[in-house]
Amino acid sequence: MASQGDFNRIKRSDLKLVNKQPLGEGGFGSVYHMNLSKGFLRGSVDVAAKKLLRRDVGLHELEMLSGLDHPNIVKLIGVVDEDIEFMLILELCEGGSLRSYLDKGRRLTLKQFYDWLLQSALPLEFLKQKKLLHKDVKSPNYLITADKTLKLGDFGLARNIERTISNASETGSHPWMAPELLTDGKLSPKYDIFALGVVIWELWTGQYPHKGLEWQVIVMKVCNRGERLPIPDDCPEPIKQLIDRCWKTNWKDRPSIEEVISAITTAYPATQHQIMSGPWKLEREFGDQDGPQAGDLYAAKSIAVNPSNGDVAIAGRRRWGTSRVNVYSDHGEFKFSINTEKRPELVKTFHPRQVAISSCHDYMVTDGSGHMKIYDINGKFKDQWESSCSQESRQLFIRLWGLAIDSDGHVLVGDISNNHINTHRQDGTYLDSIKVGIKPRFIAVTSQDTIVIADWNKPPQIVSKTGQIMHTLKYPDNVSLWDPWGVYCHGDMILIGNQRRCYKPILCYSRSGGYLGHIPISDVSFPLAMTPDGKKLMVCEGFKVKVFSL
Ligand code: ADP
Repeated sequence: MASQGDFNRIKRSDLKLVNKQPLGEGGFGSVYHMNLSKGFLRGSVDVAAKKLLRRDVGLHELEMLSGLDHPNIVKLIGVVDEDIEFMLILELCEGGSLRSYLDKGRRLTLKQFYDWLLQSALPLEFLKQKKLLHKDVKSPNYLITADKTLKLGDFGLARNIERTISNASETGSHPWMAPELLTDGKLSPKYDIFALGVVIWELWTGQYPHKGLEWQVIVMKVCNRGERLPIPDDCPEPIKQLIDRCWKTNWKDRPSIEEVISAITTAYPATQHQIMSGPWKLEREFGDQDGPQAGDLYAAKSIAVNPSNGDVAIAGRRRWGTSRVNVYSDHGEFKFSINTEKRPELVKTFHPRQVAISSCHDYMVTDGSGHMKIYDINGKFKDQWESSCSQESRQLFIRLWGLAIDSDGHVLVGDISNNHINTHRQDGTYLDSIKVGIKPRFIAVTSQDTIVIADWNKPPQIVSKTGQIMHTLKYPDNVSLWDPWGVYCHGDMILIGNQRRCYKPILCYSRSGGYLGHIPISDVSFPLAMTPDGKKLMVCEGFKVKVFSL
């Protein structure tokens, strides 16, 4: 094997055919599984040999591919250029193409979806830095390795980004083609972004784009009528928006590849699968000092993570009777204590119940009185407002417990004296109220703004914004002691804490009420919270806070 320029020259006689049946066939030749016997430390290596019928086509792909070294691009090992035989020797991707994988009808797990989503976009960022357009981004050209990494292959059409004139008939990939090429025969710098949008759509739906349609029909739909593939409702909202933007008719309105990658990494949550399969590692414990110290925590009632600085706020009783909201840094150092009782107008002592973080990162606290209290990020009292429903029938004495903030930034407050959930703006302006069937002691909202309510010793409920019961959650058969304490929503996933000691302390449900499984941590009970990315889980056991991480 002699090296020449950026690639190696390989002798045909060093290659042995492993399988007569080609791995795949393309427009310009076939790809075979072969074994390359020389020049490798470990003896021989299995490769994919792309036999090209036309040498000029092969030389072009060779020129494009040589020097491209990226984990998500099929690696060029070398070239065979002998007599009439021209072969590109490529890293073997045992899993075949993404298209053939999806054609098997397998729906991707959420984790696999997000992994491949990112891996499909990363090589395009690399190509942009090299001033290259791939020009044939589509699911049949993404290949899967034995360890399930996605790699972009087939650089037969790749071009320098500055070459804008092209010819639609060069490819047979109409479902992936951006309108500028279909109508004017022109490429744009964001030509590949449109195609990537189609690949993302395929990753989510598993389907073949515009299946069964003649190319003329596709052109008419996409270019003349401005139609696009239908994005299913179950597609996560940020991904839906991303696909929409990739499909803008005017290429200038499409996101740059850097924006695509940032949208993907932002949307990339710890998936339901990861949350339930773990492994969750205990990272630290805190709040466990002995004696009447400021940071000493007795029985935690609720816990919230401040996304602006990672601080953890815990509302609870302290050992020596008094109650506080204690705030710790994300490393577990005690920062300050908010005394929610210390207000002159109060004659009665109230324990803080639920704590939530407002849009401007203030701490909002319900404390069993009729007032919501608001403290700034340093614990300084800022404001308070009364929460009550407007109906006449309400009891005079109002006790507030549950607390959540929905996607509009509205505050949902649970009034457990009247079984109402009152909705307010964050400045306290009353908006409306719904009557609910159980005491709204714990409230959380899913990413679709359905409301989850839980109370002690009762099956939790999922209700609509208008208060209609949509689902009542059932205990899984093998959990006999179930006494909810705390609910938390991670996207569409609902986590319910259990105040009874059992081996499944946190149960997980879908937005439609189906039992998904439990979080594999033991001997912790309640309450619970997560960081927004789902990668840290905080649970309290009595006066100890345990932080687990994925
Ligand atoms: P063409 O440029 O002729 O369209 P491709 O490079 O797209 O050819 O390859 C055609 C098919 O061959 C792919 O869809 C895939 O199934 C298979 N193939 C290509 N490269 C590899 C590889 N490195 N490992 C495994 N299979 C491959």
